Amino acid sequence: GIRLKDEIVRVKQILKAAEITFEGNQDISIKNVPLLTENILSMCLKEAVNNVVKHSGASSCSISIEQSWKEMVMTIHDNGVFKSEGDKETRGSGLLGMKERLEFINGSLEILTKEGTTLVIRVPNDVK
Ligand code: ATP
Ligand code: MG
Repeated sequence: GIRLKDEIVRVKQILKAAEITFEGNQDISIKNVPLLTENILSMCLKEAVNNVVKHSGASSCSISIEQSWKEMVMTIHDNGVFKSEGDKETRGSGLLGMKERLEFINGSLEILTKEGTTLVIRVPNDVK
């Protein structure tokens, strides 16, 4: 699995190549995160950014990762348009795969589609 720090470097490159402005607010410092959790968050970040590039038509994308005593919250927002019309048969497995992996570590995925698309990913701190 890939570390979150490395994945952030990669998604920045992917966004740059797609001419989508990256907006990250602060240096991402996360502490005491189990490797499995980190690997799953990395996978989610990668898929989320792939979707931004493939589907959103956005001009900017912001990523934030915050850690509290309770949980880690990773947010990926783009200013494009969520494309909800999709034939069920031909729909991809990216979001579903994310959801399944997150459930495995008691995490959750929330998709907000007002003013672009926002994925809110939560993972409790106490997963072992
Ligand atoms: P795959 O991930 O398997 O390559 P996919 O990207 O089409 O295929 P999902 O990642 O599950 O599948 O996304 C489902 C659908 O939701 C997409 O096909 C697209 O229509 C829509 N979608 C997802 N993310 C975004 C986004 N950031 N902006 C606009 N539409 C999105
Ligand atoms: Mg996808």
